Formats: sequence, C-alpha cells, structure tokens
Amino acid sequence: MPFQFVTVCALCGKQFTLLWVMDPARVGPESVAKITCPICGEKFYRAPGDLVPVSKPQNLPAGRPVRTTELVYDCPSCGMPELSVTLVHTDVSWEELSRETMELCVCSNSRCPQRGLQQNLHPTRTGLGALNPSRA
Ligand SMILES: [Zn+2]
Ligand SMILES: [Zn+2]
Repeated sequence: MPFQFVTVCALCGKQFTLLWVMDPARVGPESVAKITCPICGEKFYRAPGDLVPVSKPQNLPAGRPVRTTELVYDCPSCGMPELSVTLVHTDVSWEELSRETMELCVCSNSRCPQRGLQQNLHPTRTGLGALNPSRA
C-alpha cells in the first residue's frame, strides 16, 4: 500500500514528495529508508516517523518511490541458500544496491569449501518485495 509524504532534503533543504510502497507488517515507525533527493541527488536516511503524510497531490518535485524488500545472500562456493536475509527500505535499483551493499556471512554447509569462514558477500537476489527499475 503506497503512502505519500512530504519531506525536506537533509542536505539542500528543499521540499519534495515521496511515495513509500509500504507493507505495514514489515515497516515500523523506526524503519529507516534510504532516500535520494530529486533536486540535488544526495542520499540520506528517513524514518516514517520523520515524514509528513499528505493525502492530496502536492505541487512539489517527486522522489523515486521507496520500496521494502529483502536482500538474500546465498553462498557463492556451494550455492547454499539464505546464509543471510536482511530487510531494506530504499529507492535505489537492484544494480545500485547489489553493488554497494555487503554483508559478512558464514556458511554452515558441511560440504562447503568455505564452511565456517567469514565471507564478505554482495546480495545474490531479492526475497519478498521488489526494487525500483534501474535508471536507463
Ligand atoms: Zn537535496
Ligand atoms: Zn557454502
């Protein structure tokens, strides 16, 4: 269910509107979303509690929609699924997110050559939820 908010850029101070495609079961007031300012292009973080909800369309620039999704880390050595699953709220695309996100994972598969070792992995795929399409 999408909610529309007005927010102020943490860096340039300009107002813009934001759609958050929110799953209320997975988004709490303390959830933190990574948002890109449509005016200056800077990225910053906001929680729903910091956003002002609006019901009518606003005559303001619009940011990219914020989406809630799971990042899934599979073992690159043995293919063991879901060494780690993290929930993220973000307006970036898979291309950007998978490049800039890393997580320390340990594989417990007894047949894995990397078993018990810490591996710094990029996410393999998304779980529940979807991300924005990449910017063409
Ligand atoms: Zn800005
Ligand atoms: Zn493994």
